[in-house]
Amino acid sequence: MSLTISELKVRNVAVIGAGPCGLSAAKELRREGHKVVVFERQGQAGGTWVYNPTVEADPLGSDPSRTIVHSSVYASLRTNLPRELMGFRDYPFVSTGQPYSESRRFPGHREVFLYINDYATAFGLTELVRFETEVVYAGLVNGKWRVRSRMANGVTVDEIFDAVVVCNGHDTEPRTAEIPGIDAWPGKQMHSHNYRIPDPFRDLVVILIGVGSSALDISMDIAQVAKEVHIASRSAKVGVLGNVSGYDNLKLHPMIESVHKDGSVIFNDGSVVLADVILHCTGYKYHLPFLDTNGIVTVEDNCVGPLYKHTFPPALAPWLSFVGLPLMGIGFILYEFQSNWIAGVLSGRIGLPSEEEMMRDVEALYLLLEASGTPKRYTHGIGHCRIEYMDWFAGECGIPGVEEWRKEMYYATKKNYLVRPHAFRDDWEDEELALKAHEDFVKCRS
Ligand code: FAD
Repeated sequence: MSLTISELKVRNVAVIGAGPCGLSAAKELRREGHKVVVFERQGQAGGTWVYNPTVEADPLGSDPSRTIVHSSVYASLRTNLPRELMGFRDYPFVSTGQPYSESRRFPGHREVFLYINDYATAFGLTELVRFETEVVYAGLVNGKWRVRSRMANGVTVDEIFDAVVVCNGHDTEPRTAEIPGIDAWPGKQMHSHNYRIPDPFRDLVVILIGVGSSALDISMDIAQVAKEVHIASRSAKVGVLGNVSGYDNLKLHPMIESVHKDGSVIFNDGSVVLADVILHCTGYKYHLPFLDTNGIVTVEDNCVGPLYKHTFPPALAPWLSFVGLPLMGIGFILYEFQSNWIAGVLSGRIGLPSEEEMMRDVEALYLLLEASGTPKRYTHGIGHCRIEYMDWFAGECGIPGVEEWRKEMYYATKKNYLVRPHAFRDDWEDEELALKAHEDFVKCRS
């Protein structure tokens, strides 16, 4: 049974964050008829894509009282997906011919930031955002949400909302590697959250931990100026260890076994390097310091839970939701699908299973992860089911699922990355798929 427009419920909704998730949530919520306020602690929209040359005072980001710099974007960063995949479905990320717009398929961070802001303008979202306003508390009071926000002048305001949608991002709070002997090691340590440019590493010997896309980018950036760069990886296969082709000062090692007070770093294969810096490119932690759910939602070993479809805590659905927690989805279209679902559930257009059924679904996921030996901290990784996961939302929302060209392009990009890890952004073979995408975009914009 479908509801008529007058039967849809209008809710007062607080959205926390004006990055890609918060903006798509605001758009979908307003389209559904809800009243929306977006709280954003930065002075502009764009979230992680608001490049900030400043870094935090604590290079490892472990001091909880430090002044937070939100973005982890470095100066040379280009997207790791082509623009056709990165963009929102209803606002394709095409080269516009504007002076700032690049022709590269994998554009730099500045263009992504401008694109997100164009999206906000095109859908009139900026007027919904309260900039320089940080949510310092969001908690349940008599079945409603009390949201306390602090403005730039220090004044705090309490307001009541029916629902809260958390879109605060999860690439700001550093996660670091545990290294035996690190307390006595005399070198400098930092996290990639505080990496911007290679110049401070000139002539140094740098150990970089991690092999994610940021780690690879940063290692190549630093190798231009450093004496030596050594990448320590838990997952690199024995066959690929050793010198990285195309570089005479970049080497791949197994993980660090221990470090010592003479400055030496010993790897699991017994090799030893005297190093100046250890750079942790080891990812980030979910961090929800403002959220008070009386213990219903917890963050344990980097798993936020329990959450039905990584979105609604069963006991608080639909009044609390999260957009963008899943890792390894396809760019902004996932946030659009998730936001559409949340907006539809809040209005009553889309139904939810009972709390017990949702809990059983969450428990089934936990059992599956346990049975496959997947550590809890990877609970939100959807790499093994990204398309099914996204299509599930589309099915619930009654919108078309992930387009064929998008699926194929995603896998083509991943394959190309494995074949050409240092050149996949400039050398590809999926022109045909790009043409198909652009045919779709023309239809979308006409
Ligand atoms: P964010 O973009 O982080 O936005 C969250 C917003 O919430 C921020 O504006 C923040 O100021 C605000 N906020 C936080 N707490 C509060 C509070 N208490 N009160 C008010 N406001 C608050 N994704 C891709 O698809 N392609 C890429 O190529 C890619 N490259 C990346 C490279 C790096 C180095 C990093 C770190 C991430 C990359 N990502 C990439 C992932 C990126 O995080 C997403 O593209 C996207 O920015 C996530 O959007 P979000 O809205 O969830 O979070």
